[in-house]
Amino acid sequence: MKIIRSNKAMSAYSGKLHVNGKTVGFVPTMGALHEGHLSLIRRARKENDITVVSIFVNPIQFGPKEDYSCYPRNLRFDAGLCKKEKVDVIFFPRAKGMYPKNYKTYVTVEDLGDSLCGAFRPGHFKGVTTVVTKLFNIVNPDKAYFGQKDAQQAMIIKKMSEDLNIAVKIKIMPTIRESDGLAMSSRNIYLTKAERLDAAVLYQALTLAKKSVNKGMRDCREIIKIMKQSISARKTARVQYISIVDTLGLEPLNRINRRALIALSVWIGKTRLIDNIIVNP
Ligand code: AMP
Repeated sequence: MKIIRSNKAMSAYSGKLHVNGKTVGFVPTMGALHEGHLSLIRRARKENDITVVSIFVNPIQFGPKEDYSCYPRNLRFDAGLCKKEKVDVIFFPRAKGMYPKNYKTYVTVEDLGDSLCGAFRPGHFKGVTTVVTKLFNIVNPDKAYFGQKDAQQAMIIKKMSEDLNIAVKIKIMPTIRESDGLAMSSRNIYLTKAERLDAAVLYQALTLAKKSVNKGMRDCREIIKIMKQSISARKTARVQYISIVDTLGLEPLNRINRRALIALSVWIGKTRLIDNIIVNP
């Protein structure tokens, strides 16, 4: 397994692979790898000749009061997991290499980043789409793998690739969960024992919503109300938002009359966790 740090070396390596007719599968991550990331890596390995995993904690997608400086970083641990999964290349760029002095260019997808998480994290998706565009240009993959766990991010990246004619096939893979339903996340390690127990409430509330829809409930306000009630029963939990939107334009729905995304963000103590589920009446 190679670890490549320079953008030039990464581009050259990928160029050579393409000349030799090899396909490249790409999994962009911020490291602190867990089973969620590994599920993307395994799929990439299955569908491509060569698998590249990037590990980059992207400074421009964090707000000034967010956890950029304390985000978990452990290359040795991540490299061990990647090696076990037979990853071919870890691309581990330097922040200065990605954003040199006098950096000026950003990519934005209009509208889709305004709602849900975007409403509470101004500039976040602009940071994501910019870094993903740069990574796509450097790695030049045939297929790239993202998680449904970050549903809004996945949709925005899909739209960006379509709109900008980026020749990468975007693959969205299911959310991997702990045994109590908590979506795996690099941020789960911030949770205390009591918080970790409370954190299961995100998936419980989503499951409750899905059951209610299956029983015939259609009114979104009513569904959100029962979700809020279930979350408020947990001492350390505080809802940031619960939204029910259509799965194409992320437009808020009053009634569930088509395929819908139920997405939520909940503070568990000082840790902000997100999750979502799709319902189809
Ligand atoms: P991150 O390192 O958190 O930026 O995540 C890198 C990629 O892994 C993103 O496409 C995420 O959506 C995906 N991912 C994170 N957690 C999970 C999970 N629990 N299940 C599936 N994919 C995930």
